[in-house]
Amino acid sequence: MDLTITNFVLFALLGAAGLVLVCTVVSRTLHGRAERRSLANRVICRLCLHAFEDASHVGTINCPMCCAANEKGRSKGLD
Ligand SMILES: [Zn+2]
Repeated sequence: MDLTITNFVLFALLGAAGLVLVCTVVSRTLHGRAERRSLANRVICRLCLHAFEDASHVGTINCPMCCAANEKGRSKGLD
């Protein structure tokens, strides 16, 4: 088959569109995963409603603002 300039431009456009699509999907997947992970570590104080993150696996965490003990919500099925 001979590659004309029209075919070349068409393939280049399709390739660019496909690349953008793949990049979008990968970016959204990574972003969603990071967001879900940070949400799993988020604790909102029941007393002062201060939101903070805690990556430890202990059951109760003391609020850094008012020192009240907060129970951490359990995440199901994740790590
Ligand atoms: Zn608090």
